[in-house]
Amino acid sequence: MKRFERFLTTHPDDVGCDETRRLLHVYAEAIVAGTPSHLGIAAHLEDCPPCADELEGLLAAITEHAHD
Ligand SMILES: [Zn+2]
Repeated sequence: MKRFERFLTTHPDDVGCDETRRLLHVYAEAIVAGTPSHLGIAAHLEDCPPCADELEGLLAAITEHAHD
């Protein structure tokens, strides 16, 4: 039963790693623009540290570029 409990704690809107990676640059730019969207991605990032790290890297790259 432990395995089922793990599934139940996953956010119902979580879109998963593949979809998150596919849309992460769009999501990052939306955050920088002050209009965060894609709530399914936000839900996924809460549960997936590797994807959250990826987002931080993208945000750093976007912010750095804006200062050029
Ligand atoms: Zn992920």
